[in-house]
Amino acid sequence: MDSITLMALSEQYVANTYARYPVLLVRGKGTRVWDLEGEEYLDFVSGLAVCNLGHCHPKVVKAVQDQAEKLIHVSNFYYIEPQIQLASLLCKHSFADKVFFCNSGAEANEGAMKLARKYAKEKMGKDRHEIITMERSFHGRTLATLTATGQEKFHKGYEPLMPGFKYVPFNDIGAVKNAIDSKTCAVMLEPIQGEGGVNCPSEGYLKALREICDKKGLLLIFDEVQVGMGRTGKLFAYEHDEVEPDMLTLAKSLAGGVPIGALLIKRGIADSFKPGDHASTFGGNPLATAAGVAALTTILEEGMLENCQKMGDYFISQLEEIKKKFPFVKEVRGKGLILGMELKIDGSSIVKEMLKKKILINCTMGNVLRFLPPLIVTKEEIDRVIKTLEEVFQELK
Ligand SMILES: *Cc1c(COP(=O)(O)O)cnc(C)c1O
Repeated sequence: MDSITLMALSEQYVANTYARYPVLLVRGKGTRVWDLEGEEYLDFVSGLAVCNLGHCHPKVVKAVQDQAEKLIHVSNFYYIEPQIQLASLLCKHSFADKVFFCNSGAEANEGAMKLARKYAKEKMGKDRHEIITMERSFHGRTLATLTATGQEKFHKGYEPLMPGFKYVPFNDIGAVKNAIDSKTCAVMLEPIQGEGGVNCPSEGYLKALREICDKKGLLLIFDEVQVGMGRTGKLFAYEHDEVEPDMLTLAKSLAGGVPIGALLIKRGIADSFKPGDHASTFGGNPLATAAGVAALTTILEEGMLENCQKMGDYFISQLEEIKKKFPFVKEVRGKGLILGMELKIDGSSIVKEMLKKKILINCTMGNVLRFLPPLIVTKEEIDRVIKTLEEVFQELK
């Protein structure tokens, strides 16, 4: 079947929850993907920060193949070898002492919020259940995580929302202080907001949050679903500010493209989860965790963090150059290889023009171009994107 026929079938049979570009991708390798007709695209979306190692990294492919032949699934009634390996690795390379595995970012955040409530009720008093989150945040699409998400457009039509959330502006310490009361149990945020427009924490903000949480006995939860696993040039974004959370959630790129989610937890808090308190059928299954072990070791062993820092610095400097030339560019921001370019004009038409020129980029919040190339991206590939973006901008001038 050709792609036109298949796209029509998609419209007929697949739920209408995505505004898709008219492209059907069938193959990927590194920074490139190909459509059904064999056309090649340079991918600066990476499945929205999922394919940090590039598409079909040979070590991830091999791990999936080997594991699929051995054992795809068993219940968490039993011990699972790659799950143990991945949990140990994550703890070795982070602040955490224990890991709960699940299948998505939303599910990881659900776990964090459930554990925060349970811990707080046990350790701080039975009224403690409220979680403070940020405006422009994004935490997922389940009822609880979309309630945690501080953007009204995601709430509309799904009321009544979950009780127990309060929103404050990002980068406003005073607002957090004012929002804390006798019901507060945790503060949850993305150390860099992804969907909300690539918003970075101001100097000292995360440290100040840590201090407030320590002073008031509250939990600090970082959602690193998008920025974790090397995206910012460090394995975890919190490392840049030297501020450790009490819990941290991961998903997107944790298993090199295979669906997975994880909740990383400090010991004293993890102890509030007892057998039977929380579970997930597929959480930590052999296939996903084997891919996760391969992905994590490959990121560390193949110098991807160093490349991300170097290419990120280069990319942002080139975006700054473009900003100087076009007055409708408002701001360039981000860290490592999660970069945003805020425009004074709508960004969606630019994404479409880039697609015509065989480059995949994304736009969020209507006017923030978001660049999320694989961490293996080269200078030449960045140059091509910069040059093409300039051409597209030139046509607008
Ligand atoms: C994508 C994302 C989520 C949701 O992850 P899903 O796997 O789609 O449930 C949560 N938090 C952040 C920061 C994200 O970027």
